[in-house]
Amino acid sequence: MELKHFTKGGVHPYDSKYTSEKPITNAHLPKQVRIPMNMHIGAPAKVLVKAGDKVEEGQLIGEAVGFISANIHASVSGTVIAVEKADTLVAKGVDYVVIETGGSIRNWYDKKFDYSKTPPEKLLEMVKAAGVVGMGGATFPTHVKLSPPKEKQMDIFIVNGAECEPYLTIDHRTMVEKPDAIIEGVNIIKKILGVKRVMIGIEENKPDAIEAISKASEGDPSIEVYALRTRYPQGGEKQLIQALTGREVPSGGLPSDVGIVVQNVATIFAIYEAVVFQKPLIERGLTYTGEQIEMRGNYKVRIGSPVQELINEFGMPAEHGTVIAGGPMMGLELTDMKFPVTKGTSGIVVLPKKKDYAVNDYPCIRCGRCQFVCPIGLEPWYLKTLTDKSLIEEAVERGLLDCIECGSCSFVCPSTIPLVAMFRFGKGFWRRKQAAAAKQAG
Ligand code: SF4
Ligand code: SF4
Repeated sequence: MELKHFTKGGVHPYDSKYTSEKPITNAHLPKQVRIPMNMHIGAPAKVLVKAGDKVEEGQLIGEAVGFISANIHASVSGTVIAVEKADTLVAKGVDYVVIETGGSIRNWYDKKFDYSKTPPEKLLEMVKAAGVVGMGGATFPTHVKLSPPKEKQMDIFIVNGAECEPYLTIDHRTMVEKPDAIIEGVNIIKKILGVKRVMIGIEENKPDAIEAISKASEGDPSIEVYALRTRYPQGGEKQLIQALTGREVPSGGLPSDVGIVVQNVATIFAIYEAVVFQKPLIERGLTYTGEQIEMRGNYKVRIGSPVQELINEFGMPAEHGTVIAGGPMMGLELTDMKFPVTKGTSGIVVLPKKKDYAVNDYPCIRCGRCQFVCPIGLEPWYLKTLTDKSLIEEAVERGLLDCIECGSCSFVCPSTIPLVAMFRFGKGFWRRKQAAAAKQAG
């Protein structure tokens, strides 16, 4: 099979996929869940419950506000013991609904909904009602992504099965264990988008997933399965689109600008469950892993489970380095183990001390390695110089907002400069400045 690949930059970190043969199993029900109201990009959901309320698993507890927002549901049955403000990994003072677990566990799988005669608009409504968001980490509300502007004609739907981040294997296992569900999810999306062509890209280091998905889609000429060369960030939307179709998403543009919608495997599985079993997004698969973790594996975890509960269940060595929510390249360091698993948490990765990403920040030696690996073709060393000097406007002119925060530049930098963290800060600063200016202008 010919290997597809993106053409510019990229790195090949040791993939550390220790859990690729571990079947997905259920984590214990947590004693308590802490569910933040902004697990998605866009407006936070509005809290619908108060302390003392009894809630059922799957009940709507946070209502989407506006178009770019997402519903939030109780991930367990129990009693709301608090509605409080607390920080998340990315925002301060967010509304949390805290539920003490107790009461019935619902069986979502006793009845299948036949969607064959359901119109696309109704299917889209079901996805929206279920609170599905991009589960590869992007957390963009899925109903918005599945509603591209009418004036833009979509002709290809791409399934992102690359899972190019080191350590993570949950998408891999989902493809191996649930290939028919993935293909059914693909058919639902095809119907919503009205596209006739589907391209599925899976990195070559998952031959069993390529085989399972190829078998499940056999006989359907609209679905093509491709093996991708293993090179990070092969699963970046722009890189995947280029690898599979040769189309280039323009700077500042979206996949819909080139007639394409991309969804990752976990999101497609959530869409399948939302439509076929009318199950809202109340749990997700994640990889709990690290060199020294004995019980590393792939687990289904209720949304809102505090990471500490997973540590209690699956263990954590006393001597360890950084704990990361997501993969080591694009994930965020956990500073407090009370933080919950959210809709976007694809993994909890415990790095040993020796592999910590050091933050010594030696001076830039102008070696140019960061520029060589940047898949967007940016000059990270130069963007760093500009952000260091607070020349954010100039950095934006040099492409700061095009940075996909893949971390390739930080990974290769011999001076261990935390480049991607600086770019995240610079982008956040720029967006806040723009928002303030827009507010002032009325
Ligand atoms: S983090 Fe940004 S600047 Fe660095 S390699 Fe990735 S896209 Fe380029
Ligand atoms: S890799 Fe690091 S040291 Fe080398 S040019 Fe880039 S920022 Fe400077």
